[in-house]
Amino acid sequence: MHTNSIIELSQTAYQQNIDFLKKTFGKKVLISSVVKGNAYGHGIPEFVKIAFESGIRHFSVFDVQEAKEVKLVLADTVSILIMGLVQEEDLEWIISNQVEFFVFDKNRLQKAAKMAQKLKSRAIIHIEVETGMNRTGFEKKELLSVVHFLNKEKEYLRFKGLCTHYAGAESITNYYRVESQIKKFKEIDTFFCSHNQKPEIRHSACSAASIMFPETRMDMVRIGIMQYGLWPSPEVLVTYLNRKKAKLDPLKRVITWKSSVMSLKKVNLGEFIGYGTSFMAKRKMKIAVIPIGYSHGYSRSLSNQGRVLIQGQRCIVVGSVNMNMMIVDVTDIEAVKKEEEVVLIGSQENLDVSVASFSDYSNQLNYELLTRISKTIPRKIIE
Ligand SMILES: *Cc1c(COP(=O)(O)O)cnc(C)c1O
Repeated sequence: MHTNSIIELSQTAYQQNIDFLKKTFGKKVLISSVVKGNAYGHGIPEFVKIAFESGIRHFSVFDVQEAKEVKLVLADTVSILIMGLVQEEDLEWIISNQVEFFVFDKNRLQKAAKMAQKLKSRAIIHIEVETGMNRTGFEKKELLSVVHFLNKEKEYLRFKGLCTHYAGAESITNYYRVESQIKKFKEIDTFFCSHNQKPEIRHSACSAASIMFPETRMDMVRIGIMQYGLWPSPEVLVTYLNRKKAKLDPLKRVITWKSSVMSLKKVNLGEFIGYGTSFMAKRKMKIAVIPIGYSHGYSRSLSNQGRVLIQGQRCIVVGSVNMNMMIVDVTDIEAVKKEEEVVLIGSQENLDVSVASFSDYSNQLNYELLTRISKTIPRKIIE
């Protein structure tokens, strides 16, 4: 296949991350691998194979489309949980395939029971409750009627999980908000139990909560970013290191994104490079054109910011990232040649470009940059 870039996914790195997470959470906590957003840009079809190989048997996705992608590769060997969008026309497929799903409103609860009855089956539901994020989840005043409904329809509804989601556990600034959410969640759990509706499992933690607030781990953790080898925020890493008195980051990046030099050129002092005037050469320069741009998912916000590796040296993006190309400064690399390897994310010799290192390492940046990586770039699983 002719291609301008390739993505490699490392089984060894993934295994190391899972080993670390299992050791941290203990045997009793189930890990659900969160693969929404095309497995955070890694590519669902290849990524779930790696996860399966490392023993993961539960996956969380956003919608039916993603559930189908997981199913296509792993069939009925794993459990799949839809955390977000379920449309009415999806219910038949979901219930007949025993796919689990979040329910956060009365309408979906009723429709699920009806469809399960029609299919002579049981819908496997996770009741999501509002605890303070104010996104999705049943409100407190609705809970009594939910309990009654679950009692009435227990033949058709399997109350598998009780769950919630925290509003920014990756930052200490949200400490009180998250603490109050944890407290509310416990009260709601007590409420359900005292009304004869004990969930089979409780779950609430994403990556950040699982480290910052260990009590949120409960029976299952929904782990996204950390399994890919990245931290939700620098604060979470620092918290972990301080607590453990450790110095080394225990996570390993799974993804490597590589391209190659398309062409080379010399530029005189005082010339502008690329569109417009955002970059002016302050010396005689040598530049390399890389056939990767924002249409492939290399964010325009990395214009004059991004770093790539060539011959084990860091090269900065000069000028703006274009649709299909970008330009990097290779003035200080002696014998750079056409078709030479360029690492966009990953390591080369002893240097490393992490996803977040191009910018100010702001929260949420890892997530956004990863999920933008184009689905059409070929993925390859490596050792
Ligand atoms: C995305 C998501 C997660 C995983 O979040 P990470 O920070 O990547 O671990 C967990 N739960 C829900 C509801 C999510 O939407």
